Amino acid sequence: MNFELSENQKLLQEMVSEFVQKEVVPRAKSLEDEHKFPRELLNKLGELGLLGMTVSTQYEGCQTDYLSLVLAIEEISKIFPSLAVIFSVHSSLFCYSINKFGTSSQKKKYLPPSAKGEIIGAFSLTESGAGSDATNLKTRAVKKGRTWVLNGTKAWVTSGSDADAFIIFTKAGSEAREKKLNAFIVEKNFPGLKVSKVEEKMGLHSSGTSEIVLEDCEVPEENLLGEEGKGASIALHCLDGSRIGIAAQSLGISQKAFEEAISYAKQREAFGKKLSQIQAIQFMLADIATLLESARFLTYRAANLYDKKKTFTKQAAMAKLYASEAAHKIVDKALQIHGGYGYSKEYLIEQLYRDVRVLSIYEGTSEIQRLVISRCLQEEY
Ligand SMILES: Cc1cc2nc3c(=O)[nH]c(=O)nc-3n(C[C@H](O)[C@H](O)[C@H](O)COP(=O)(O)OP(=O)(O)OC[C@H]3O[C@@H](n4cnc5c(N)ncnc54)[C@H](O)[C@@H]3O)c2cc1C
Repeated sequence: MNFELSENQKLLQEMVSEFVQKEVVPRAKSLEDEHKFPRELLNKLGELGLLGMTVSTQYEGCQTDYLSLVLAIEEISKIFPSLAVIFSVHSSLFCYSINKFGTSSQKKKYLPPSAKGEIIGAFSLTESGAGSDATNLKTRAVKKGRTWVLNGTKAWVTSGSDADAFIIFTKAGSEAREKKLNAFIVEKNFPGLKVSKVEEKMGLHSSGTSEIVLEDCEVPEENLLGEEGKGASIALHCLDGSRIGIAAQSLGISQKAFEEAISYAKQREAFGKKLSQIQAIQFMLADIATLLESARFLTYRAANLYDKKKTFTKQAAMAKLYASEAAHKIVDKALQIHGGYGYSKEYLIEQLYRDVRVLSIYEGTSEIQRLVISRCLQEEY
């Protein structure tokens, strides 16, 4: 089994790392502290072509393999997890779903500006009463002539405050028990769409997570994404892949926490020696490194299976489950190594401790990943 990155993947990783050092490092803390959506940084990612990694070249993207996308998400997450989740949703959910399920006129209209960063996309499945139970939506879409009229309230939309367009899921029929969904491409300026609330969150302050109200929101019939009634399979298909992206976010945050812990342990002294010379601290670092490396193998393996067009659902769920839960443990241990200073906002580890918590919740909680893995096992054995 070959775990070496290809030359192209290494070059991409270097390019993103240089971008992050030059452009993201100087701005990330103030944007995060001020809860500002990082629009300028997204424009720069667009100029570099990085917002088109899931867009085919026919529509002005630079469609790469999934492992390259994972590497890019990982690099950005090291410094600015809010930017990483915006980037991940835009690439692996918004652009990906249009590139995969869109009509050619939808692709022509939405993909080139999305690849350049002129459109930032969001993906809105969840509602207040439908998170894990994602088909239990209340939002309805009713066809009137050549227009769909959407009514309902969508919750927890990453980038919702500033996105230019959304993939919005609604119930397909009028029956409460109906499991079929529709998916629509909805522009922020369509009449009847309103950002009603920006969530105040524990972490990821710059990611613009919002509630979206649809009041007689008019969507042209040509903006139905995929076939009528096939929205649930579109959502599940896209989330299958994007889970690997959440595992990648976990890797980035974990790697940074590890580096912060080592550097702190090498300079802080207690009882006349450096922390890094105390065996209890060395063991914590050994545990962190082992968790991190295991998480990286699972994540890269899931991306590799995806790229080889092999079945990857189980491995993606395992990667998301393991990497996000490992990241909790890693950041917690890294904060412990910082002692009291880890609890101070002056140290990055405090922010990472808050940002890491959501990784085992969004895009399918850990419990839902276990359900997915169990279902795959039942089919296999
Ligand atoms: C910061 C943030 C950003 C988000 N961004 C987006 C976004 O861009 N787009 C979007 O559509 N959604 C988004 N979400 C929503 C997210 O995907 C949901 O919060 C998540 O799927 C969980 O749903 P819930 O919050 O309703 O929890 P619930 O489904 O109510 O779950 C509550 C608890 O019960 C457990 N549980 C539920 N059902 C089962 C079961 N059958 N078996 C075992 N345990 C179960 C869950 O694991 C969890 O522990 C975001 C959420 C957050 C916090």
